Amino acid sequence: MSSAVVTRFAPSPTGYLHIGGARTALFNWLYARRHGGRMLLRIEDTDRERSTQGAIDAILDGMRWLGLDWDGDVIYQYARAERHREVAESLLASGRAYRCYATPEELTQMRESARAEGRPLRYDGRWRDRDPSEAPEGVKPVIRLRAPTEGETVVEDAVQGRVVWQNRDLDDLVLLRSDGNPTYMLAVVVDDHDMGVTQVIRGDDHLTNAARQGQIYQALGWDVPSMAHIPLIHGADGAKLSKRHGALGVDAYRDLGYLPAALRNYLVRLGWSHGDQEVFSTEEMVAAFDLKAIGRSPARFDFAKLENLNGLYIRGSDDAALVDAVETIVPSVGAERGLAAPLPPDLRQRLTAAMPGLKERAKTLVDLLDSAYYLYAQRPLVLDEKAKALLGEDGSARLAAVLPALEALTEWNAAATEGAVRAFAEAQGLKLGQIAQPLRAALTGRTTSPPLFDVMAVLGRDESLGRLRDRLSDA
Ligand code: GLU
Repeated sequence: MSSAVVTRFAPSPTGYLHIGGARTALFNWLYARRHGGRMLLRIEDTDRERSTQGAIDAILDGMRWLGLDWDGDVIYQYARAERHREVAESLLASGRAYRCYATPEELTQMRESARAEGRPLRYDGRWRDRDPSEAPEGVKPVIRLRAPTEGETVVEDAVQGRVVWQNRDLDDLVLLRSDGNPTYMLAVVVDDHDMGVTQVIRGDDHLTNAARQGQIYQALGWDVPSMAHIPLIHGADGAKLSKRHGALGVDAYRDLGYLPAALRNYLVRLGWSHGDQEVFSTEEMVAAFDLKAIGRSPARFDFAKLENLNGLYIRGSDDAALVDAVETIVPSVGAERGLAAPLPPDLRQRLTAAMPGLKERAKTLVDLLDSAYYLYAQRPLVLDEKAKALLGEDGSARLAAVLPALEALTEWNAAATEGAVRAFAEAQGLKLGQIAQPLRAALTGRTTSPPLFDVMAVLGRDESLGRLRDRLSDA
């Protein structure tokens, strides 16, 4: 394989790194790694009004969290405006571009008559061959590409196949605005060229841009990079992805308790396949990734599938690593649970010890934190609804009845508490569950937990008895 492969991820910093952008970044990253090449990162901040530093930070953070590293320094498009202007001037000099003095009123008129006739807006080329000496006073010109009016512009796309535009349908696009600022279309071409990009991978909402950019490449006599336009992500119902469907920022997925490896695995399968394989280590993804296996129809975002994969990755993770991962979401979700980062060392220890049981049931790190509630809960515990239901009249009465047997214990460990509770159940003619469930509810605030007597041992005598008494005093 050639080592000259260069891809780039080129987000516009107008919002968070959303899930579609993250997938585009992943595909570019995988393609570069697969071919021993480089992936560059270019921030397309030419839209000064909509670009924000907050969005840039969110994109960089999101990529780092997802483990998608880029090569070299981040390239900022706006900082290259001088170079873009220079290229526009060179096109003017070679006759492949011209100054257009059409006034805003003329353009409005063109737009209105196009609308009235039901055809797409097309600049009519009125300054294409006009002598600049006829330029009206006081109108600052734009620079437009002198695009071919006949023939075809073809994009050979690795995903979409051969896509053909009739040149008569593509008008002379603006390269430089009247205020001297480059247009996005020009900036992308110049940057991709100067950065040595060999393979463009981006959303198929840019497919028409590829044709227009192709015309700019042609006018400059530059090689066009290979193209791959990937179908956008849709919601589970087939409609365009919206927030309701999961069009959240990557930071939101982090706070919902997804592991970066699980999200990567989920994203790679959104639109790309490799036989029926669903689970991929990063190495496997890199080894298997190719553009040919990207489908042409939109992928559907499926939260349940993401959750299941995440559960799988959680179960496969090392206990100490999970404690670290849980700690990373504490700053955003800990406050409502009375937790702050860093977690106290004794809680970290107890979490690690309980992790083998906890991780069996969790689909997200938030689930883990919730099912570990008993480990960090402050008295009196806040019970969830199901736990409350278990502590109705019968439950509370049984709790009151078993309490003296536990209070009488001289030794406090799993075996001792189990012995006492079993003996009590037997004497009363109750099934173990009839007494264990109210105990569980009172001790953990939940109806599921690791084995009850282990919980009592971990909590210790004073905390356990205290939690039981709390329930009786508010009954
Ligand atoms: N900045 C564009 C976007 O965020 C991407 C442009 C490109 O990849 O060529 O949609």
